[in-house]
Amino acid sequence: MIDSKKFLLQESDIPEAWYNVVVDMPVKPRPILNPQTKEAMKAEDLYPIFAEELANQEMNTTDRWIEIPDEVREMYRIWRPTPLVRARGLEKMLDTPAHIYFKNESVSPVGSHKLNSAIPQAYYNKKQGVTNITTETGAGQWGAALSMAAKHFGLELAVYMVKVSYHQKPYRRSIMQTYGAQVIASPSMSTRAGRRILTDTPNYQGSLGTAISEAIELAQSTPNCKYTLGSVFNHVSLHQTVIGLEAEKQMEMAGEYPDVVIGCFGGGSNFAGISFPFLRHNFLDGRNTRFIAAEPASCPKLTKGVFQYDFGDEAGYTPMIPMLTLGHNFSPANIHAGGLRYHGAGHIVSQMKQDGFIEAVDIPQLETFKAATMFAQSEGIIPAPESSHAIATAIREALKAKEEGVQKTILFNLSGHGLIDMAAYDSYISGDLANYEVSDEDVARNVASLEKII
Ligand SMILES: *Cc1c(COP(=O)(O)O)cnc(C)c1O
Repeated sequence: MIDSKKFLLQESDIPEAWYNVVVDMPVKPRPILNPQTKEAMKAEDLYPIFAEELANQEMNTTDRWIEIPDEVREMYRIWRPTPLVRARGLEKMLDTPAHIYFKNESVSPVGSHKLNSAIPQAYYNKKQGVTNITTETGAGQWGAALSMAAKHFGLELAVYMVKVSYHQKPYRRSIMQTYGAQVIASPSMSTRAGRRILTDTPNYQGSLGTAISEAIELAQSTPNCKYTLGSVFNHVSLHQTVIGLEAEKQMEMAGEYPDVVIGCFGGGSNFAGISFPFLRHNFLDGRNTRFIAAEPASCPKLTKGVFQYDFGDEAGYTPMIPMLTLGHNFSPANIHAGGLRYHGAGHIVSQMKQDGFIEAVDIPQLETFKAATMFAQSEGIIPAPESSHAIATAIREALKAKEEGVQKTILFNLSGHGLIDMAAYDSYISGDLANYEVSDEDVARNVASLEKII
């Protein structure tokens, strides 16, 4: 039985600043490196790729709060603040003493948290006088969000969409095109990076790593054009902290404080968004909240990857990033959580995992769809296959609380809805879905070629 209880904020409660967690990290992340010289890069070194303000945010280690421009807050008002919901239906279904809350980021016009960063990224590019931007997209959520933001700020956008998703999720392509973006299936023949991989492996179904290479290459060969991306980098996580900052106030309205905070994990942006504001109370106020990142068993960089300098893309166009990685040429199985098929983890989160401030779990595909179905039937929302990894983890924690007979307050981020992912649900319902696991040997083989800088 559905029995949700909502906690709502006013428009005036939309945060006025993003939270920069790096300032409060006890161990700072290592610097990103220039791949040729192996020297630490400065913000200016990123100006050829990113808008200057975004590059500055990427490298900012001194300002705890970074003001959100009025033009961005004005756009956030379309759907923010988002609801915090006590999932009492799910609690009853699980017969657990745990209290389960979720932050509902699926209510954005494009159906996911991605718009929180798409809007500022488009805004800072526009402000600098850039006319064209490029990007990659996996399941199409980031591409959809950026398409909307680019149109609003009058920018031309080209999106490289991972080929397997281009075919699995054709309606996300239609969404991007409806907002006026150009969408190209990746790998494509339009870039050197794409041509090389298509010549070697004609049937390659693409990866986020390859799509990023293509988008960077196009940006660098087009006048007045910059690259943008939807995850992994610090400035993206920064923008997503509006999620946790709102949730903090809403948990207070509910009269509770989370014992466990959970987010699904692709490159880390929505996990960072829900976690970092609460993590600051672990760092500064002696709180002991646990933070769990939930990744797919088929793409387990946090649980099975190595901590090493690696590229963010397949062709090696990005700086070298100190990250937990499966290797930039890792080719994940064609699971339906397209937004989680990325080889590495953002470098803040990687450092925190190394230092034991956050935990990670890897979840098999079938368990995520079982959890998604339970959530749909008890809370009325069909979740994105990506978000279902967080739901499955929340269910594991709630059942553990029941076994141990303890009350526990669980908060997870519902990063998006799954209404455009019904082909995936169809496969699950008809019994066509399988689990994919990556063995330690597979990982060892794949990371063997990485330069040993750490
Ligand atoms: C892109 C996406 C993710 C994964 O990306 P992160 O940067 O790790 O948050 C998760 N959920 C949804 C709905 C997405 O669109």
